[in-house]
Amino acid sequence: MKNLEFRLESYFCMYLQGMKIVIFSGAGMSAESGVSTFRDSGGLWEKYSIEEVATPQAWKRNPSLVQTFYNERRKQILEVEPNAGHRVIAEMEDFFEQVVVITQNIDDLHERAGSTAVMHLHGNIRMAKSSGPNSEKAYYPIEGWELKMEDRCPDGYPLRPHVVWFGEEVPMLERAQEEIENCDKLIVVGSSLQVYPAAGLIHCAPREAEKVIIDPNVHELMVPGDFISINKGAGEGLALWLSKYREGENEE
Ligand code: NAD
Repeated sequence: MKNLEFRLESYFCMYLQGMKIVIFSGAGMSAESGVSTFRDSGGLWEKYSIEEVATPQAWKRNPSLVQTFYNERRKQILEVEPNAGHRVIAEMEDFFEQVVVITQNIDDLHERAGSTAVMHLHGNIRMAKSSGPNSEKAYYPIEGWELKMEDRCPDGYPLRPHVVWFGEEVPMLERAQEEIENCDKLIVVGSSLQVYPAAGLIHCAPREAEKVIIDPNVHELMVPGDFISINKGAGEGLALWLSKYREGENEE
C-alpha cells in the first residue's frame, strides 16, 4: 500500500513538473503550405476588401458573395498540406506534458499535422454555424468545399462559415487567455500582432515563462522586450527552437 502511495505521489509530482507549452499561430504559420497571409505583399487582402467579405455587414448586404469567398478559401485549404512547422508542433507532444495550440488561422492544418489540442480563436472554415440568433450554439461540419445558401440550420436560418468576422466578438478569447496565463513557454509563430483582441493575448503569459517569436520579418513587428526573436520561417524556426531545447535537456 505504502509502495502504491509512493508511486502515486511520484506520478503526481511528475505531472506537476510537466511543462505546458502554448503555441500562438497566425497566418504566417500556413504560408509555407501555400496559403496566403493577410498583410504580406501579394497577400489575400490585396485582392479583396475586408468590408466586402469579412464583416457582418457584408453578409447582410451580399451573403452570396461572402459565401463564395469562403467557399474558395475552403477549396484552397483542402488542396494544401500541413508544412514542416505544423509537423514540428505536433511532434512537441512527445516532449512536453501539454501542448496547446491557439491559432488565429481558420484552416485545419494543425489538426491534420497531428496536434491534438487546437483552439481556433477566429473559427474553423471546415465548419458552419447558423446565421440566426444563437449562432454559437452548434457547429456543423461541411462536407467538401461548398456551403450553399440553401443549407440551413435546424431553426431554418442559412448556414454561414464558422469564422469570426471583423467587428464580431471572439468567443474563445477568455479560454485562450487562461491557457496562456498558465503556460511555461509561449511560442508565437507567423503573426504580425496587429489583429486585436487576439494579439493582446501574448501579454498574458507569466513573467517567468520563456517567450519566443518566430517570423521571417520579425524586425518589422512590435515585439515585447521579454521575447526572444527567431528571424526565420515557421518550419526552420520551430525545428531550430525544438532542437536547441532538446540539446539543453540532454545536457541537464
Ligand atoms: P498577418 O497576415 O497579419 O501576418 C502574417 C505574419 O506572418 C507576418 O508577420 C509575416 O512576416 C509572417 N510570415 C510570412 N511568412 C512566414 C513564414 N514562412 N513563417 C512564419 N511567418 C511568416 O497574420 P495574422 O497576424 O495571423 O492576422 C491575420 C488575420 O487573418 C488572422 O486573424 C487570421 O485569422 C486571418 N487569416 C487566416 C489565414 C489562415 O487561416 N491560414 C490566412 C490569412 C489570414
